[in-house]
Amino acid sequence: MQSLLDAIYEEIKPMLGQGKVADYIPALASVDPFQFGIAICDNNGEITQVGNANTAFSIQSISKVFNLVLAMTHYDDNLWQRVGCEPSGLPFNSLVQLEYENGIPRNPFINAGALLISDIVQSRFASPQLAMRDFVRTLSGNTEIHSNPVVADSEYAHRDRNAAMAYLMRDYKNFDNEVEDVLSSYFFNCALEMSCVDLARAINFLANRGYSLMAQKQILTPDQSRQVNALLATSGMYDEAGSFAFNVGLPGKSGVGGGIVAVVPGRFSICVFSPALNKVGNSVLGVAALESLSKRIGWSVY
Ligand code: GLU
Repeated sequence: MQSLLDAIYEEIKPMLGQGKVADYIPALASVDPFQFGIAICDNNGEITQVGNANTAFSIQSISKVFNLVLAMTHYDDNLWQRVGCEPSGLPFNSLVQLEYENGIPRNPFINAGALLISDIVQSRFASPQLAMRDFVRTLSGNTEIHSNPVVADSEYAHRDRNAAMAYLMRDYKNFDNEVEDVLSSYFFNCALEMSCVDLARAINFLANRGYSLMAQKQILTPDQSRQVNALLATSGMYDEAGSFAFNVGLPGKSGVGGGIVAVVPGRFSICVFSPALNKVGNSVLGVAALESLSKRIGWSVY
């Protein structure tokens, strides 16, 4: 495994400098783009890593996976009446589809869907933010994980588009809580900071039929775990899910902080981090590294 990661690192390093860090969230604009790290967590909990794998970064939309799982552990299948499981084919923060489809977001990984899931979690927990923080701490085994208030505040100050989606859903009676409260929780989640090692550990239960070695418990049933992986495969990579399936063939979720988590079901989980993004918002080096990894291991879910 170590020689695999070393080889990928050598292959990818010359690409450093390609892409652009997310600057629509001002607090992320100053992140050093010349960072790259990978961590793999196998289903025995063994970690292999290379590069900046212990650097904590803003997990952004990767939080949508943990938020969904938190909701799934507390609600039955009725949750899927309020949010769909189809790819959107549109940018992650698009508003148009939401109106055409009567306030029911296409899936939990576009912003409207994640806001809807945050609304569901908000109804269930006295402190939804602490519930999420503690959940990722338990899944990763790292009790130091925190949300960066500067990033969360910066996102809140620029919340107009996300607020518009939430208010639209409220108008369609598909939103129960105060929009501003849910937005605060959503941005808290996006601003959680974790390293590749934390994330590879935290997501490992999806490679392990729903069982988390770190938490030492079944987080999702094997069936639910399969469902989340299917959603990741079809909707986890913004508007690039098709070519990611074509070239990498693994369930994955990216965030505009430059992280991508991916799952090799039955074998291991991966997190890649490099902050510079391509046009749709995926890490340039992250996607390239995962393409190289899937070619080298000669394995995909398809
Ligand atoms: N906090 C970001 C937003 O709401 C998340 C974007 C992302 O990583 O996709 O726009």
